[in-house]
Amino acid sequence: MAAQQTLVALRTFLTGLDTLLRATSDEARILSEGAALLRTLIARDDWLPASHAAPDPERYRQYLLFRDPEGRFSVVSFVWGPGQRTPIHDHRVWGLVGVLRGAELVERYARDDEGLRLVGRGRIDPGAVDAVSPAIGDLHRVANAYDDRVTVSIHVYGADIGAIERATYADDGTAKRFVSGYADAPALDLAGEPA
Ligand code: FE
Repeated sequence: MAAQQTLVALRTFLTGLDTLLRATSDEARILSEGAALLRTLIARDDWLPASHAAPDPERYRQYLLFRDPEGRFSVVSFVWGPGQRTPIHDHRVWGLVGVLRGAELVERYARDDEGLRLVGRGRIDPGAVDAVSPAIGDLHRVANAYDDRVTVSIHVYGADIGAIERATYADDGTAKRFVSGYADAPALDLAGEPA
């Protein structure tokens, strides 16, 4: 994998997202047009550096690929070892999840007076994109669909997702404060950020 390919695929995506976010603050449009941009990025699996695709045997990892200097968005690679899964959690900003390799299983939840209620399940295969936000449904649990291989997805959020305060939830709906941070990895050389 050539470093230049990384720059081209990811920078094209970042430029497109920058243009979109300058054109609108309408979340429905950001999710719809952002998903199209993300589908283009994940249509090929030849650009993500190995440094940002390495699984951890203990826990799923989230690597920062790009943090917008203006704080409008962040892009991360999410790397699942075999059988790994998240707790139920929220995001508190819009988010797009596109699977690059492997597959993810999603359980979607809603809150009501009695706690959390499972409202849907889905599977995200390579090339497909899912969305979350407080407006459209922000609570889910995600798992690697495979017990014997790594899954990698590319996520885009409307904030610096590793730094924002959000929550994980027990099955009875009890919330626990959560700040995800990022796994250690070298910063990608994205000199010449989108204008
Ligand atoms: Fe999530």
